[in-house]
Amino acid sequence: MTFENLSPVLSDALTARGYEALTPVQSQVSEDQAKGRDLLVSAQTGSGKTVAFGLAMGDELIEDGRLPFATSPLALIIAPTRELALQVSRELSWLYAKAGARIATCVGGMDASKERRALGQGVQIVVGTPGRLRDHLERGALDLSALRVAVLDEADEMLDMGFRDDLEEILDGTPATRRTLLFSATIPNPIVQLAKRYQTNALRISTVGQDRGHGDIAYQAVTVAPADIEGAVVNLLRLHDAETAMLFCATRDNVRRLHASLVERGFAAVALSGEHSQNERNAALQALRDRRAKVCVATDVAARGIDLPTLSLVIHVEIPRDAEALQHRSGRTGRAGKKGTAVIIVPYPRRRRVDGMLRGARIEAEWMDAPTAADVRKRDQERLMEKLLTPVEHEPEDLELAQRLMAERTPEDIAASLVQMHRALMPPPEDLIDNSARGRDAAGRPERGERFERPERGAGGDQREGFEDSVWFRLNIGRHQNADPRWILPLLCRRGHVSKNEIGAIRIGPKETMFNIPRAIADRFAEAVIRSANEDGEDDSGVAITPAPDGPTYPPRRDKGGHGGGHSSGPRDGAPRSTLGRAPGGDRSFGDRPRGPGGPGGKPTDRYKPKPFGQRSPRRPSK
Ligand code: AMP
Repeated sequence: MTFENLSPVLSDALTARGYEALTPVQSQVSEDQAKGRDLLVSAQTGSGKTVAFGLAMGDELIEDGRLPFATSPLALIIAPTRELALQVSRELSWLYAKAGARIATCVGGMDASKERRALGQGVQIVVGTPGRLRDHLERGALDLSALRVAVLDEADEMLDMGFRDDLEEILDGTPATRRTLLFSATIPNPIVQLAKRYQTNALRISTVGQDRGHGDIAYQAVTVAPADIEGAVVNLLRLHDAETAMLFCATRDNVRRLHASLVERGFAAVALSGEHSQNERNAALQALRDRRAKVCVATDVAARGIDLPTLSLVIHVEIPRDAEALQHRSGRTGRAGKKGTAVIIVPYPRRRRVDGMLRGARIEAEWMDAPTAADVRKRDQERLMEKLLTPVEHEPEDLELAQRLMAERTPEDIAASLVQMHRALMPPPEDLIDNSARGRDAAGRPERGERFERPERGAGGDQREGFEDSVWFRLNIGRHQNADPRWILPLLCRRGHVSKNEIGAIRIGPKETMFNIPRAIADRFAEAVIRSANEDGEDDSGVAITPAPDGPTYPPRRDKGGHGGGHSSGPRDGAPRSTLGRAPGGDRSFGDRPRGPGGPGGKPTDRYKPKPFGQRSPRRPSK
């Protein structure tokens, strides 16, 4: 087929590549009204924008079906990262192959002298990252005096990454007659300013919302207990069994940790972050391309611009910093019309924040629990059935072996062994804290109630041993955040470096939770909590632990036989309890408790006076 409005040599390249139609951004940049003009284009990643500027440049570059011989570059494309620049270079290579283009790529982390040689040999198109291009320009290796077209790809990212100066110096070194194409996912004020300074009468093109790429991403928000994040990742990977999956973490430390853990479990995983050399990054991407690896754990910056056609699953292991980052990360999948799934793992305390982020980005996500081990096993069985029941032509040698097996074992035994062997190839799913049936009301909301609590008294109503003199602390999460001792206990042990037995009662209110620990270890606990917190006094999942010198005055709720560590709740302070969930003095909540000594075993004494957190020993260095 031929594509209208395009030079035949480019149209042929698209056909040979198997493209059947232009994407919206490609059509718009090829329309007559766009010809020869500066363009300010907002197009999302995955919309086919690379080919779009490749096509738009055609009129400036192609003469009689070919690119003319040039001693200095005619087109310059500036991209924020090495990967993106290399990817742009790859796309332009096939698009302009028949037109006889010579393309040089100039990116940080590569051999600069090799690049200088390439520039000296006469190239028509140069693709590069801002810092490296500026270097070549300053050293005289890059001559921009004959430039006909300059393209800024992902311009907003470049400004965000602090490349304004480099961009301005590069653009200042180009002829005023050049055509400037500015591509950006978003057009915030700094981009408008840049456009004003370097563009003339630019045509504004926006295809955001029309691009097939983003319409094909299904968003899911999966709620989990903070301690279950990694387990949820494992189960999601196993459930989806994506050809390629990309997992996002906020820091390179977390990338390293998660990658190591996944490899240990048997996943074919690679990692991409700022700590990897260019060679390591290339090797990781190559492993993904040729399917030796299926999972890539990455930071936002390291994954920018990566285009893997088989990538059908993105998991936001740690919540993105804002809606834009969410879209950028998710845009690694659902590219060029393919379907993709983006899963955000939401620790209970972060639910509201993610909800707000999704609303801000006008993304409709399906909220759900993380897949359980049983869900994964069920899906495994379905897949296995499908795989083993697919008709295949057997080799005579295999049939002969089958006969021998049948002579020794029953068909059932053989089939069961086959299933077992298949299962052994896959990393086992994780058992997650059950958050579904138990403790939910008919509408699926966490039930109000006492079954979530861990009482402070033993079965006989006695004070638990070791908690006669204890100190109360407060957590900033309650029933509204699915607070439950099943996940609170492991979290407290991890944050405060204590064992389960050193935590006494856990009382859960609507928005906060109180727990007590023996006074003898309170200081040590408090110090460990501070070390495991960020500047806001929270951990990565948004949980904050603070001293609560007054302790709860809200009574413990009656235990209905749920979690209780083998204890059931007896009457408080020996007083008979009348109404369920009601304090003798009325229906107070944690929020409006009166000042004064705390509950059983929690009376503040003069010996332990907790200081507010944040004024103690130095924090753990931030990641
Ligand atoms: P981009 O937005 O430039 O990162 O492109 C995303 C992916 O879409 C790349 O793999 C392109 O090769 C592919 N692509 C670009 N244009 C088309 C098209 N018209 N038809 C099919 N695939 C395309």
